[in-house]
Amino acid sequence: MVLVCEEIRLQGVPISGGIAIGVIQIFHHNEEWIVPEYEITEDEIEDEIDRYRKALSESKNDLKELQTLFHDEGGDEGATIIGAQIQMLEDPLLTGEIEDRIKSLKKNSETVFKGFITEYLQFFNEESDPEVHQRLLDVKDVAARVLKHLYPEWTEYDETKLPQSIICTYELVPSYTAEATLGEVQAFITEIGGSTSHAALIAKAKAIPYVSNIKIDVLKESGGSTVIVDGDNGNVIINPSKATTNMYRNKQRGQSVRFDVMKEEDGDVKTLDGTVIDVQANVENLADLDLLKRAKIKKIGLVRSEFLYLRKELETVSENQQYQLYKKLIQLAGNMEIVFRVFDIGSDKKLLSGSNHEPNPALGERSIRFLLKHKKFFSTQLRAILRASSYGKVHLMLPLVTDIEELIEAKAHIYKERLKLEEEGYDVQKNLSIGCMVEVPAFVIMCDHMVKECDFLSIGTNDLIQYTLAVDRSNPLTSDRYGEAHPSILRMIEHVVKVGHGANIPVSICGEIASNPLHTKKLLELGCRALSCAPRYIPAIKRAIRAISLE
Ligand code: PEP
Ligand code: MG
Repeated sequence: MVLVCEEIRLQGVPISGGIAIGVIQIFHHNEEWIVPEYEITEDEIEDEIDRYRKALSESKNDLKELQTLFHDEGGDEGATIIGAQIQMLEDPLLTGEIEDRIKSLKKNSETVFKGFITEYLQFFNEESDPEVHQRLLDVKDVAARVLKHLYPEWTEYDETKLPQSIICTYELVPSYTAEATLGEVQAFITEIGGSTSHAALIAKAKAIPYVSNIKIDVLKESGGSTVIVDGDNGNVIINPSKATTNMYRNKQRGQSVRFDVMKEEDGDVKTLDGTVIDVQANVENLADLDLLKRAKIKKIGLVRSEFLYLRKELETVSENQQYQLYKKLIQLAGNMEIVFRVFDIGSDKKLLSGSNHEPNPALGERSIRFLLKHKKFFSTQLRAILRASSYGKVHLMLPLVTDIEELIEAKAHIYKERLKLEEEGYDVQKNLSIGCMVEVPAFVIMCDHMVKECDFLSIGTNDLIQYTLAVDRSNPLTSDRYGEAHPSILRMIEHVVKVGHGANIPVSICGEIASNPLHTKKLLELGCRALSCAPRYIPAIKRAIRAISLE
C-alpha cells in the first residue's frame, strides 16, 4: 500500500524526453469489441455493404486529417506511420473480402468485420517478434477506428481525456498518440512499449514526454496526487517533495526553451574560452531540413537513410525513386554538407519482407554485412546516392564496420559503382569522401589501422554501448544496464578521437550521447570537437557548449 505523503520514485524506460508535472489519469483500453450481432436479409445486403464502405471512407478521412496535421507540423515520421494505416484501409482484404463475407454470411458488418480481424490477430498471436507486435497494434488501431464508425456506441476508452493530465495506459496505440497534443496531454506513462514503437516515434515527434515499463497498478494507488514524469531519465515520481518539485520545475523551464523552434543565429558555436565546436544534425526525414537551415547548421552528420523508408519494404524502392528522394534532400539542404549513411538494415530495423529470422539479429547479418552479402541493394542505393551527389556536397558513411577486409570490400564496391556510372555518362561528385561509423569494439581496438582506410569517423554510441556492455539497446528489461556514460565507453570515445585526429581525419559523435547536454562537457574534455544531434536537441547542446570553459 502506497502512503500518499511519501515520495515514491519508480524507474521506467525513457522513451520521449522532457519533464511533465501534473495529475495522472488512467485510461483503460477496451480490448473487447462489444458490438451488436444480427442477421440481415438478401435485400439488406447492398445497404449493409454501403454502411461498411462509409465507415471505411470516414476512417480514411480521419486518418488523412491526422496525416495533414503531421505534415503541417513537420512530423514526417508520424505522417508516414499514419500513411501506412491509410494503406491498410485500402487493402483488398479489408474491402473485397469483408464485402464477400457480408454477402455470404448475411450478417451485419460489425459482426463480419470483428470476426475477420479477430481471426487475423489470432493467426499472428503467437509471434513474439516486436515488429510483428507493432504491425498487429496498427491493425487493432485501424480496426477500432472502423468499428467506432460502424457502431459509435462502442468506445475504445471509457474515459474522456481530461485537459492537462498525464495519461497512463497499458500500451499506447499510434493514432491515439497522434491525436494527443502537448498542452492537452502532458505526458504518457505505459506498462509496455519500446522506444521504437510507432507510438514512441510519434510521442517523440510531438515532444510529449513518455516513460514506459511502469506498473499501472502502482500508479493507481497514487490517488490524484502530483506526479512528475522525467522522460529524459525514465523516472516517475509520485507525490514529490517540495524540493524535488522545485528542482524539476527548474529543469522544466530549461526544457521549454529546448523545444523552441530553432532561432536564427550564427552557426559558430564556441565554448566560453573560444574553442569552436562543430554542431551537426542527425536527420531522419525531410521536414527537419527547414529547421536546420534556420539554425544555420552547416553539416548533416548523419542521414539515417533507412528511416526515409520507414515501413516500406526496401526491395520495392527503385534506384530512380531513391535518386529523386536523395536529390530532393540534397537540394533542400542547400549549402549543408551531408553524410549519407548507407542502409542500416537488419536487427531492430527490419525493412525487407521475408527477411531471415536469425537467432540473434543484433549479432547477425545487419548493416554493412547485409549490404555486402546482398550487393543488389547496396548497388541500387549507391547508384542513387552517387547520381544525386552531383547536386551537393555528399559523404558516404558505412555502418557497423568491424574489420579492415569488410571496409576494403565496401570501398571497392563503391568505386566500382562510381566508375560504372561515369562510364554511363552520369555526373558524380568529385572528392566524395568515405567514412565509417564506429559502433563495434573491434573497430575501436584496431582504430589505428582502420583510419588508414577512412576519410572520417563518426562514433555511433548507441550501438557501441550495446556491443561493449553486452546489453540489447531495445530491451526494457536491461535498460538500467545500458550506461550511456559507462567508463569503458568514455575511454573508447577518447581513444577514437585521439587516433582519428592524430591521423588528421574528422571525428564526430552521432549516437544519442551527443544529444544529451548532461554529457557535453565530458565529451569536449575527451577531445570531441564535432557532435551530431537530433535537431530538437541542437539548441540545448549549443547552450551547453557556450556555458563550458575547457580551461
Ligand atoms: C548509433 O548506433 O549510435 C547510431 C547513431 O546509429 P543507430 O542509432 O541508427 O543505430
Ligand atoms: Mg547504429
